[in-house]
Amino acid sequence: MSLAERILSVVWLGAATLMFAASLGMPDASVRVFLDNASWSLAFWLSAYWAWRGWVQAPPGQRTVHTGLLVFALLVAVGQMVWNLQVALDWNPFPTPADAFFLLGGPLLAATVIRATFTRLSRDRAYPAALDFGGAVLAALAFTLVVYLPAEGVRSLAVGAVLVLYPAGFLTAAGVTALAIPTVGVRVTRSHLLVLAGLLGYGLSWMHWNLMVIGGQLQSGMWFNASFSLSAVALGWGARWLGFDTAEDADFRRRCDRVMNYVPLVSMTLAAITLVLLFLAPEGRAGVQALILACCLLVLLLAALRQTIVVSLLNRLRTAEAAVLRNEEELYRVAHFDALTGLPNRRYFEDALERAVAEAARHTQGANRRVALMLIDLDHFKSVNETYGHRVGDALLSEVGQRITQLLAGQGLVSRLANDQFTVMLLRPASRTDLAQLAATLLEGLAQPWELSEVGAQYMGASLGISLFPDDSANSVELVRHAHSALHAAKSAARGSYRFYIEEFTEVTRSRLELRRRLHSALERGEFTLVYQPQLDQQRHTVGAEALLRWSVDGKAVPPDEFIPLAEEGGLIVPIGLWVFEAACQQVAQWRAGGWQVPVISVNVSTIQMREPGFAQALLALTARHGVPPAGLVLEITESQLLDESLYGIALDLKNAGFGLSIDDFGTGHSSLIKLRRLPVGELKIDKIFVRDIVHDVNDREICATVNALARTLGLEVVAEGVETQEQFDLLVRMGCQRFQGWLFAPALTPALLAERWLQRVEAGEAATASSVAPDGA
Ligand code: C2E
Ligand code: CA
Ligand code: CA
Repeated sequence: MSLAERILSVVWLGAATLMFAASLGMPDASVRVFLDNASWSLAFWLSAYWAWRGWVQAPPGQRTVHTGLLVFALLVAVGQMVWNLQVALDWNPFPTPADAFFLLGGPLLAATVIRATFTRLSRDRAYPAALDFGGAVLAALAFTLVVYLPAEGVRSLAVGAVLVLYPAGFLTAAGVTALAIPTVGVRVTRSHLLVLAGLLGYGLSWMHWNLMVIGGQLQSGMWFNASFSLSAVALGWGARWLGFDTAEDADFRRRCDRVMNYVPLVSMTLAAITLVLLFLAPEGRAGVQALILACCLLVLLLAALRQTIVVSLLNRLRTAEAAVLRNEEELYRVAHFDALTGLPNRRYFEDALERAVAEAARHTQGANRRVALMLIDLDHFKSVNETYGHRVGDALLSEVGQRITQLLAGQGLVSRLANDQFTVMLLRPASRTDLAQLAATLLEGLAQPWELSEVGAQYMGASLGISLFPDDSANSVELVRHAHSALHAAKSAARGSYRFYIEEFTEVTRSRLELRRRLHSALERGEFTLVYQPQLDQQRHTVGAEALLRWSVDGKAVPPDEFIPLAEEGGLIVPIGLWVFEAACQQVAQWRAGGWQVPVISVNVSTIQMREPGFAQALLALTARHGVPPAGLVLEITESQLLDESLYGIALDLKNAGFGLSIDDFGTGHSSLIKLRRLPVGELKIDKIFVRDIVHDVNDREICATVNALARTLGLEVVAEGVETQEQFDLLVRMGCQRFQGWLFAPALTPALLAERWLQRVEAGEAATASSVAPDGA
């Protein structure tokens, strides 16, 4: 709040108070009326001014509610002007033209709050919530009418209508706002309470005032008259600072949902009490009886309807969950097998290879300690595809898969790696000679003509590269890379041949050794930096950012996918990981000091780090040193690494320390979805390879949809990463996904750019409530 605004507010408020105080002791009635109206006018315009200030400073996504509040405050202020005019003209009908303005505000505000609320709900949640809102408002209304309407009946229809519409308008606005808070999952602040108090105050004051007008007990210069001004000031001041943003904390949101579950019960109880009151004193309340009765019956009807919907919703979820359990095998198949050939896909293969290598590494002697990898690539497959079309190409690939499987006669695991590339993994190969024999057999078999319907016999050979663990590769990644080098060598020598890997094939080995050497000193040389990629919600507001490590050697960037595995191999990832974590904490503190609202920051963590004794304590010490609450940080752990159950305890320690945990690259490992229940994580990140093909690939779409549905039942957040197109985004939104990360929005950015483009400034007066991560959060 600027100094000018502060001074203006104080003077304005002082003037209103002064006018009111003067009206209390004033002997002359007409002066009293003048002072009353003057003090109301000041208070209402001050309220509208504050609401306008609130509107101006509201982030674009939260404007709707502020617009409602501003319009409401303006209508009241303008209504007062009309009233002033009437007083000046001494024209005093009931109802009055000013009523029209006062009455319009409530429904308009209710409508905007409803709009702001329901745009944030998924369809599943919107139906029951709509019924809850309707029921609660009707029950409150019926109850108010029964206690408020004069028992002796009202003079005319117009008078009756005004008497009913006042509570209807204001209490609906108040009720809807009160319900919107837990429905959206907004953390209640003083501003919310002030707005609610203001609305209730308006409603009750006007109800009382109208009764006094009818009863002819109205007086100027009464204490009661201040209640309008107080309501206006409360509402305006609340609107000035109001936030209407979903809290990050999933636990809190679950609590909100639980509160909302009681709403129908409360509504029904209120309706029942109303009915009792109505029957105790049936006379009077002429004409309105039917209305009250109808309200009560509707409340019961809506509650029953809600129950039905919720039960069917629960049933659907239960069926979905059962289906997931039943279909887990199916899901596994879809995720791990190639639809075209029925062979294991790249994911399955990489996993199997990694396990095989790990197993082989445990043996020290003999063939047991060996794994061989053959990489087969069809020669000229592309021209078949181009000449005869994809259908023929697909048929050919499926034949190739079958033929390789036949030729192998049960030795080794065949999989389709990509397009026209197949792999054969052999455990415990006897000797290089045997492998060479097998390779020759495979190539000879694949060189035989292919009988394809429509196009007849086709000739198309293949080339083959072989590499061995541990002879020429230290791990599975290297094994694959070297098989590629060998294949490449085979292709450039003569198509239709095979080659074993030898070191000279690649420059890679040397540059890798060089890279590994450089990595050791990279920390000291300060060659690492962090960049941040924003995570957005459905409305494209920044709700998080992932810290990603960058290494540049002599000004040239080395991709993380290259150096992170190197760092993990040598254990260097432990100090590097700590550096990353500390740099992220430092950055958070720096952004805050710079006046930015910092969202939750995700940091990637390798399980090698997690296994270090005292890991959780080390992280806690770093957060304390930089004054960053652990709840403001999420640790991302890849799914495949979390398979190891011995890590569950450490994960639990981290969670208890207050950190958020996220399963990264979800879908690429093969953890049972149901196992997730036992993990203390709050978030899943769907791997980008699923998102990549979601628009065209039915399987991937199914996987994403299932993951989203299941995550909802388990109460987990889902982050979709690698979102590159609007179509992918739209599909994911429809699946109920809540958070998104990808180039469609932004790549990983330098801290300065991230702040400038994706973070918001904290307004000075709001600092305490605005930061999305309260120090005591989660
Ligand atoms: P990740 O954790 O899966 O990180 C997301 C990767 O996806 C990042 O690659 C990011 O730049 C990329 N990405 C973001 N949006 C898109 C998109 O729309 N399309 C596509 N195709 N890709 C997108 P990056 O920065 O190359 O990082 C690669 C991997 O390196 C990370 O994968 C993570 O596993 C690892 N990594 C990065 N920083 C760290 C770190 O500080 N510690 C550890 N242990 N691992 C790290
Ligand atoms: Ca990550
Ligand atoms: Ca990832």
